[in-house]
Amino acid sequence: MSQRIQISEVGPRDGLQSIDRVMPTAAKKAWIDALAAAGVSEIEVGSFVPPKLLPQMADTAEILTHALGKAGLAVVALVPNLKGAERAIAAGAHKISIPFSMSETHSIRNVRKDHAAMLDEIAAIATLVAEQPKGRRPQFDVGLSTAFGCTIEGPVPEDRVVRLAEAVIARGVSEVCLSDTTGYANPAQVRRLVRAVKEATGADRLNTLHLHNTRGLGLANVLAGLDEGITTFDSSQAGLGGCPFAPGASGNIVTEDLVFMLEAMGLDTGIDLDRLIAARAIISEALPGEPLYGFTPDAGVPLGFRKAAQ
Ligand code: ZN
Repeated sequence: MSQRIQISEVGPRDGLQSIDRVMPTAAKKAWIDALAAAGVSEIEVGSFVPPKLLPQMADTAEILTHALGKAGLAVVALVPNLKGAERAIAAGAHKISIPFSMSETHSIRNVRKDHAAMLDEIAAIATLVAEQPKGRRPQFDVGLSTAFGCTIEGPVPEDRVVRLAEAVIARGVSEVCLSDTTGYANPAQVRRLVRAVKEATGADRLNTLHLHNTRGLGLANVLAGLDEGITTFDSSQAGLGGCPFAPGASGNIVTEDLVFMLEAMGLDTGIDLDRLIAARAIISEALPGEPLYGFTPDAGVPLGFRKAAQ
């Protein structure tokens, strides 16, 4: 048996919230259906932010209910605060995730909360989660965003990330994730920071990396994470959403290329690459003209490529 690596598809959230156009609800459902049919076993389906702020996410509750109907699919929702967490729990999310910016300036500008206020919000959500009856209690993760650098503050000190990761775990959160929101990370930094956070919080508290491919280092950073025991990677089909500060660069790392790399290395993602690539048609039909990224879909699956699981 080859080692299982979990891919968490974040396109319906991170990808779609980064583009101005709104994908129609029916297309979102068809996309999630196609992803699940290709073997994607975890999808971040949306964000419980006020629709005034992000109209692209206004149908998140309906999308989440639809995704819950897919047997074996872990359904994740992003929440910006306690109110969002209440809505996500009411909707029945399996996992909720809140972004916590390691850059205090970025945090204040984005959610008008400094680090102390964010830690209070996280503690309140952890309490709410703990109060849920066992069968309805979601997993609660905190995404340590801008962990590798910030477009406003520049470099983010690694000891600050480690200290805040410890503070988050101390408030009853099950896992943290390191997020390269800005695409600043390099493989040496990924190795160092993953190791430091795992050492400080316990190896089982950090299993996930959220990487962007802004400067082309996304898959190199995945490899560095694999070497340090990371078992879950966030990625977006077609790198949807692109990057606002780097035209021509994909947003999140591209799921198709990630699946190709992992499977070619003999790791098991559970995903059928041909069926995954076919699902791109749903995006181009719903959002005509939207750039779709990825080398593997453009070049084609190599002759003789076999899924690791076969
Ligand atoms: Zn992101």
